[in-house]
Amino acid sequence: MSHYDLLITNGRILDAETARDEIADVAITNGKIERIDQDIDPANASDTIDASGQWVIPGMIDTHVHVANAADLGRIRGLGLQMVAAAGATTVIDLGGSMDALTAGINARGSGVNVGSLGYLKPGETVPEGRLSPDMILEIVGTALEAGSLGIKLWGGYYPFTPEETSRFIATANSLGAYVAYHVGTTETGSRLDGLREVPSLLGSSGRVHVAHINAYTRGSILPIEEEIQEALQIVDSLRDQIVSEVHLARPNFTLGKCDEDGNVLADVVGNCLKLRNYAPTDEGIRAALRDGYASTVEETRTGLVLVTGERGVELFDAGNTDVPMSFPVNGAESAFQLTAAKNFENEFIIDAVGSDAGALPRNVNIEQAMRLVKFGALEPLEMVLKLSLNPAKMIGLSSKGRLSEGFEADITIIDPDLGKASHGIVAGELIMLAGRVVGRGGTILTTDRGVAAVEATGVPHETVDISKAMMYSGRR
Ligand SMILES: [Zn+2]
Repeated sequence: MSHYDLLITNGRILDAETARDEIADVAITNGKIERIDQDIDPANASDTIDASGQWVIPGMIDTHVHVANAADLGRIRGLGLQMVAAAGATTVIDLGGSMDALTAGINARGSGVNVGSLGYLKPGETVPEGRLSPDMILEIVGTALEAGSLGIKLWGGYYPFTPEETSRFIATANSLGAYVAYHVGTTETGSRLDGLREVPSLLGSSGRVHVAHINAYTRGSILPIEEEIQEALQIVDSLRDQIVSEVHLARPNFTLGKCDEDGNVLADVVGNCLKLRNYAPTDEGIRAALRDGYASTVEETRTGLVLVTGERGVELFDAGNTDVPMSFPVNGAESAFQLTAAKNFENEFIIDAVGSDAGALPRNVNIEQAMRLVKFGALEPLEMVLKLSLNPAKMIGLSSKGRLSEGFEADITIIDPDLGKASHGIVAGELIMLAGRVVGRGGTILTTDRGVAAVEATGVPHETVDISKAMMYSGRR
């Protein structure tokens, strides 16, 4: 008679790959799913979780978080790792971070989640100022891989390169078998629809890339929002063999409140958010918007960053000399909804996944918002699992994750459908989150062959990923 380490009983098992949707028990041994069956005897298990009335899905994988980022959001190291685990993620990809910050975060406040990171490219920090030659670009991408990153993240919306440099970064990452993600925008375009329109010419006939948060380019700055959504879908679908993509479902955006000596806001985004509701694009405008509850800033608590508005928000804004994170509820539900639900003529989703663009930012709402779409009828439960688990696993080339079947890794998220939130997170058979409380520790770094030596030197456990199996290279099968 077998003995199981953990038994999850009576849950609704949802697996997108096999289209399994049934009430059953899941038995776990040695970090793997050993058996899925009816009425497995709890006497054969060391531990049991009663999942009656709950949904049991393959561990949620968030392909767009910021847990080790360059922006220094959150002074408490590793806070983002706690926040993603609390939201039900079991594996996350840090889209633009440093391996040092990631390692420090895991050591300080790791939550047991698996984390891969993409090296950020910021002139003056990880990249020399001025024009970059092909040789320099080759060296920059190689350096990121040697440090343990899965590849690189181009932050076109903040640190744009020329179209030639951008194109060369992508081609170089492709030739080295590295992961490459792109927040659109070059020196010729912006973080808007025109940046997305530029992608085909940057890729040519063979370039491959993960285009981050498609919804961020459909805020209506060039055409009416509805037309931007349709055009974005057309562009993404026409590049089906060359790009993978995600959409985030959070209402709040994140930007910086910094004002100049005359009190005028510096960031375009902040100015636009203020003008949208007839506030002046100044420090006084921000204070008024904070008092009215329209604008928020963030405050650190022991469990994570939280949005703060009202008088306390004004206090924090002044204490930080205006140079504080700001958030406005401006991400359109219309674009999030349409981009998530849209399918092509083959009846496949045009956008592959839901990714939070959160982590250390308080908007880890993949599961909460996707569950709302399920309740609304815009996604079937198995389609939600496809977007939260299976496709993200394929995007990174994690062939042993994203599936809830016998023999696969026991990374599992349990969702309470009444609350519309994750109730448990399990990584390799170990509980890392229970009712929103993170109980996991440490973590595993996902790296490539070239990064193994560097990660091994940190002492943090690692798992090697073969990026040639990532969806952008291997296709969607
Ligand atoms: Zn991001």
